[in-house]
Amino acid sequence: MNKGLIFDIRRYSVHDGPGIRTTVFLKGCNLRCAWCHNPESWLSEPQPIKRVRSMNGHKHEVTETVGKWYTAAEVMNIILKDRLFYEESGGGVTFSGGEPMLQEEFLTEMLSLCKENEIHTAVDTSGFVEAETFRSVAGRANLLLYDIKSPDEGVHLANTGAGNRQILENLNWIKDNGPDIIIRIPVIPGVNNKPGEMRNIRDILSVVGNRIRRIDLLPYHRLGRQKFENLGMTYNGGIEGEIGKDEIISFMKIFSEAGFRVKKGG
Ligand code: SF4
Repeated sequence: MNKGLIFDIRRYSVHDGPGIRTTVFLKGCNLRCAWCHNPESWLSEPQPIKRVRSMNGHKHEVTETVGKWYTAAEVMNIILKDRLFYEESGGGVTFSGGEPMLQEEFLTEMLSLCKENEIHTAVDTSGFVEAETFRSVAGRANLLLYDIKSPDEGVHLANTGAGNRQILENLNWIKDNGPDIIIRIPVIPGVNNKPGEMRNIRDILSVVGNRIRRIDLLPYHRLGRQKFENLGMTYNGGIEGEIGKDEIISFMKIFSEAGFRVKKGG
């Protein structure tokens, strides 16, 4: 049985797909987005993290390990505890990260086990994985949550550490072959918050057409450097600026006028 490296398992999640879900966060990511809120997901190995814990009314700084190896059966036992909630709410399980497709064998086994147990599955992916892996995993999931960050190759490279060609190629494959998708667009100051950039993303998405159930716009929230320091990682300064409510509304209009269902995410 395969083992997977997981940095969090969140039960009763309502933001990672339809209904009430368990979200399993797989550790390891091959992008380095300047706005990333989960730097603990980056390394494909367990690592120390400093945390503050309360004990007997006193706060203590402790060093814990983020990332733990689980067998698929162990994860399945946790997932099955909430089966009733999935059934009543139309929910299921979401595999997120990091980039969950980097642990292809473990993820494939998890998707098969969920299918055997008739549990709905979603995979939250950046799409930055080889076509063969992407097609194999996407073909086994009921739903993809797919991030689109920038329509521009150079901007994508400068802000995530990689170009967007593979991501757009994988997206294009979904049109004729893949499951339904929810597109997630992080709206980031200085990266993609211009109407022209949003219109370019809209044009890209129009090609995928009716596979897209909904588009979620996720306004950037500032991330403190503390999390990086607690991990002993270098903070690169993050992103300057904020995204206003009116800005988001105007971007939502660009997508809704093209016939997409669109929602502001948290
Ligand atoms: S793809 Fe997600 S987890 Fe990876 S660096 Fe970007 S925001 Fe962070």
